[in-house]
Amino acid sequence: MNLPRFPRHLLFVILLCTALVSCRPSVHRETRFSMSSTLTVLVSSQRPPDWQDLFDFADRKAWEFDHRQKDSSIGKLNREGGGKPPGEVLEVLKTAQRIAVLSDGAFDPTILALTDLWAFDGGGSLPTDEQIDSARRRVDFSKVVIDKEGTVRIPEGFGLDLGGIAKGAVVDLISGYLYERGFKDFLIDAGGDILVSGVKQGETLWRIAVRHPRESQAVLGVIPLGEKDSRIAMVTSGDYERFFESGGKRYHHILDPRSGYPAGQVASVTVIAPTCEVADALSTAAFVLGPERGLKLLEEFPDAEGLLIAEEDGNLTAWKTKGFPIEVDSLRFGQE
Ligand code: ADP
Ligand code: MG
Repeated sequence: MNLPRFPRHLLFVILLCTALVSCRPSVHRETRFSMSSTLTVLVSSQRPPDWQDLFDFADRKAWEFDHRQKDSSIGKLNREGGGKPPGEVLEVLKTAQRIAVLSDGAFDPTILALTDLWAFDGGGSLPTDEQIDSARRRVDFSKVVIDKEGTVRIPEGFGLDLGGIAKGAVVDLISGYLYERGFKDFLIDAGGDILVSGVKQGETLWRIAVRHPRESQAVLGVIPLGEKDSRIAMVTSGDYERFFESGGKRYHHILDPRSGYPAGQVASVTVIAPTCEVADALSTAAFVLGPERGLKLLEEFPDAEGLLIAEEDGNLTAWKTKGFPIEVDSLRFGQE
């Protein structure tokens, strides 16, 4: 039989392309409920990680930071007025204290007396001014001492609530978990606390949407993030995450330690930073500080960028640091 002759060079090209396509990593994806929201992990690799082990790891780490668990690291510190927590908990506490200093106490890891009072976990209730005054006196990060040996001392009546940084810290730990197991290209999204590592399928950037704070289905913009062998985090804090309404007013879960009330002025803050714990704490801090001072904190913080959406009388305005990779004009908000 006389088969038509196939050009040899073409055959070579086809074989090469087939080989390249079959070597291209797939994107494996898993979503589960964790840390009171959905936790999604995408991994670009030949084989997926052991999902059960990964999500068990995430839950174990989140538990250690949870003050509501009386035997967790933070639960124990609160119960015993201090102690020597495990190294990774101590490091997060030190970062929290550092951002508390830099934000002049707008971010305060001793916010527990106030968060307990507002009880957002149980649906929320409006406290009286007297109750707020009394709780406010038991919020002051500068009273928590960490000595050189890593022993923490918390004064009587004070307590830690790391809700403003813990989710970011756990995302960083999951990132370490994946790295240790040889995964280099992945995305972790813990309900708005996002970390990306490397690139997708060996070539494309991860594309991350920034949500519109007032229209849950709309996005303000899409940010391409990622770089081979490097990690970067992007975290959004919004007043739409957890709130209750009373007397026609909305009360949300990011509290201003100075007034004891939910911070006004801001609808959402998105921060890009090298680690998710720093991005998480900074986004809460900038939220409390408001547009001018919040942006100043982000401009001064090394390697951090931010986008802040402020609200006044129902009008939204966008504010951003110089390097935030989105054009404010494209958001259809005017910058003041
Ligand atoms: P989310 O967890 O919804 O993404 P945040 O990261 O901004 O939002 O954290 C909000 C949580 O941080 C609250 O539920 C509370 O536990 C804690 N928190 C509230 N106000 C402050 C504050 N001023 N400083 C530090 N932590 C805070
Ligand atoms: Mg935060």
